[in-house]
Amino acid sequence: MTKRIVILGGGTGGTLTANRLHRHFKHHRVDSEEVEIVVVDQDNQHLYQPGLLFVPFGLAHDQDIVRPRKKQLQHGIEFEQTGIDHVDIHSDTVYLENGRELPYDVLVIATGARLATEETEGLTGPGWNEKVFTFYDLPGATALEEKLAAFEGGKLVLNVVDMPIKCPVAPLEFCFLADWFFTERGIRDKVEITYATPLDGAFTKPVASAALSDLLVEKGVNLVTEFNTGEVDGEGGKLIGYDGREVEFDLAVVIPLHSGQEYVGRSDGLGDDLNFVPTDQRTLQTKAKENIFAIGDATNVPASKAGSVTHFEGDVLVENIIKFLDHKPLDEGYDGHANCFIETGFGKALLIDFNYDTEPLPGHFPAKVGMPLLKESRLNHMGKLMFQWFYWHALLQGRDIPGIGATMPQHGKEHPTPTPEGASA
Ligand SMILES: Cc1cc2nc3c(=O)[nH]c(=O)nc-3n(C[C@H](O)[C@H](O)[C@H](O)COP(=O)(O)OP(=O)(O)OC[C@H]3O[C@@H](n4cnc5c(N)ncnc54)[C@H](O)[C@@H]3O)c2cc1C
Repeated sequence: MTKRIVILGGGTGGTLTANRLHRHFKHHRVDSEEVEIVVVDQDNQHLYQPGLLFVPFGLAHDQDIVRPRKKQLQHGIEFEQTGIDHVDIHSDTVYLENGRELPYDVLVIATGARLATEETEGLTGPGWNEKVFTFYDLPGATALEEKLAAFEGGKLVLNVVDMPIKCPVAPLEFCFLADWFFTERGIRDKVEITYATPLDGAFTKPVASAALSDLLVEKGVNLVTEFNTGEVDGEGGKLIGYDGREVEFDLAVVIPLHSGQEYVGRSDGLGDDLNFVPTDQRTLQTKAKENIFAIGDATNVPASKAGSVTHFEGDVLVENIIKFLDHKPLDEGYDGHANCFIETGFGKALLIDFNYDTEPLPGHFPAKVGMPLLKESRLNHMGKLMFQWFYWHALLQGRDIPGIGATMPQHGKEHPTPTPEGASA
């Protein structure tokens, strides 16, 4: 007899979870039984998604950011390449599109988020991949590279349809890189760049939002806030908001609404209305059933949908799966830690570090001496570029990255001084 852990999704979260669990269960049994690990994914192409930001500007290409999925999994982990039809949480069985039925003792949902382009009227209608693009998938980012290289000037609009999205800072990074790109091409004065967001500022958290708004002003990027896109008119060249406001464009780069995966909706009791999986934000056990855990973009936890979050969640998730199988109480240790480099163009980047309770603050990371927080620097830019190496060689392999752990470091952060009235200065 063996115990079986099935991991749905072999992206960032699924791969690092499988490799960490494999390393542990190579040497440990559960109730005297061996543990087998099966990872299911619909394809064999693991995409380093942060690299998508650089593709439209000719700074990265598909061969730089895609590797075989199966090769990222340690020897001894089974890889099943097929789509998921549905999960029957009552009989603890996954039904796969290739007809296989996979009973499990523990299930991990790591299937990420889906770009729900069909939810926005006109988005993929006339003008799609001609005047209206997204860089959130590889075909879109590649098509946009050609378009940007040939763009001679006009109105470039970057639009986020609605939150939550993967890497909420990536659209801002796109604006900053567009400023750099058109400056390099000598046509910056011919390009009007606008960022249209559903938020009331450049970002979700106040201190970072103020800093990023200042950067947008510095780089000559217009900011349109509280814009909820109802329709994209590709032929007419305008975004139409639900409130009737219009934003004109010659070239629109749109981040579509995100949802969970469709199979979640076909799995009775697993997901919410958007097919995200309700999950305890500290233990990462789902609300659906105690033997189902979730990680990364697939969950509904109020952390950013980011690879860094997925990485930090992995530490707690793996510990908790081991505890669950050992009949021990779960650790409530995930604090919402997120950590993101924000590329700002001209060889510089910002770094932000935050969790459920602490917003991104200035200072240094991970301690008083370290990388500058909320401040442009070349060091941060180098960190952003080097991160790809860590991704393939440490993060996916489930190895610890020195100085970077699941718990957000407090040392080095400059907290606002409280005023006598109790408000923050
Ligand atoms: C443009 C862009 C830039 C980004 N930049 C950053 C950054 O700088 N820093 C950062 O931390 N994060 C960044 N991210 C976010 C980061 O890539 C994701 O948050 C992270 O990959 C989430 O991991 P995951 O395992 O939850 O999902 P994923 O890595 O997306 O994996 C999900 C997997 O599930 C599989 N799957 C889905 N549905 C099915 C199905 N029905 N059947 C079978 N398999 C299925 C998919 O094929 C995929 O392999 C960025 C994302 C984008 C799009």
